[in-house]
Amino acid sequence: MTATTTTTAEESRTGVLLDGTGRAREIREQAAADAAELIARGVPPRLAVVVATEDEGAGWYVRSIAGAARRVGIACDVVELGPRASADDLRRTLAGLSTDDTVHGIILQTPLPDGVRMEELAAEIAPEKDVDGVNPLSAGRLAAGLPAFPPATAAAVMELLDHHGVALDGRNAVVVGRSQVVGKPTAQLLLQRDATVSICHRHTTDLAAHTRAADVLVVAVGRIGLVSAEHVGDGAIVIDVGTNTDADGRLVGDVDTSDVARRAGGVTPVPGGVGPVTTALLLAHTVRSAQAHA
Ligand code: NAP
Repeated sequence: MTATTTTTAEESRTGVLLDGTGRAREIREQAAADAAELIARGVPPRLAVVVATEDEGAGWYVRSIAGAARRVGIACDVVELGPRASADDLRRTLAGLSTDDTVHGIILQTPLPDGVRMEELAAEIAPEKDVDGVNPLSAGRLAAGLPAFPPATAAAVMELLDHHGVALDGRNAVVVGRSQVVGKPTAQLLLQRDATVSICHRHTTDLAAHTRAADVLVVAVGRIGLVSAEHVGDGAIVIDVGTNTDADGRLVGDVDTSDVARRAGGVTPVPGGVGPVTTALLLAHTVRSAQAHA
């Protein structure tokens, strides 16, 4: 399988890096144009991010979303409830934002306070404002092939595959990871595009035997170095969703990129692959929600 990217001689020899920053920029530019139009029509798009944690990584992520939103003309309210917020506090806040006509997108940031589960709260987010696709209704609609916001990360995987011209119809796609927010919805989206889809997880025996059969391999686990060249078939396209911090404090994925690049037809870098596209899509989804209400 080939990917339509411009490659240097070095990259051609070692495999192709499938960049996400270019597609992310295009999505942000379109969101900015759409946001300007909405503002001119008197419907300024607005995103609310509900935070109930002091986790540093989450704080960094929320600041980056808020900054990106404001740069494209989307107002962003960060609603800080603190790490001692109860499930009821969170429920009330989400219900209030869901009925606030000036709010078009709602994100509930993880981690949540001890003892509070996402599954309990996600249903409080109005489906039409559920820009990260966490409400079970959104997941059900996605599975049924009905319009819904997919989780932004799953949508980002598809954006990257399309942007790099990766064919899916009839191809073997293997997704490693089966979380509600990444693995399962990514598998659904691949299935909708007529790929033959397998899902691997912690109980999968002989992971490498499954992943080596993939034309398209999506890895969404959260474990450094889980996938190396021995897990990848010749010419396969590898999408690395994982975000981990290594011993030197650097952001790395689940895939040993330089090893895998010896065999793969393409591999997404971390950082600079799925992450920026995910953030851009959260903004695009918010604009789309505002357009539906304009
Ligand atoms: P999660 O809820 O912890 O799910 C991890 C999945 O990996 C589970 O399904 C688990 O299987 C599976 N798994 C764990 N160890 C495995 C192994 N040795 N072999 C095969 N499967 C294994 O994580 P998540 O929320 O889906 O996130 C996955 C990764 O993506 C994390 O690194 C996260 O930080 C990253 N992420 C990135 C973005 C982005 O924008 N780039 C967005 C979201 C998440 P079981 O179900 O059997 O336990």
